[in-house]
Amino acid sequence: MPESLEACTKCGGQILKGDICLRSSKDMEQIMVVRRDHGVEKKITLQPKVCSQCGSVSFFVEDPKTLRISSNDKPIDPNFKTKPILESDF
Ligand SMILES: [Zn+2]
Repeated sequence: MPESLEACTKCGGQILKGDICLRSSKDMEQIMVVRRDHGVEKKITLQPKVCSQCGSVSFFVEDPKTLRISSNDKPIDPNFKTKPILESDF
């Protein structure tokens, strides 16, 4: 990983080293709502980075491409009052 990614975006301090991660409890999964308008949600793991100086926490995802929506994405709730996904939403 390049050195620049290991600096805090707020204060430039060093990101805490270690295997820091978030874990969900058994019945609670991390869900990222990608398009609330359309009721589309995707499950994805958030990787936190913690600054050792100011404590600022930033998150990143391993594969941001999985958060892109396509015409195959449907609302999680089947009763969701669908606002159709348009070409301009991608
Ligand atoms: Zn910082």
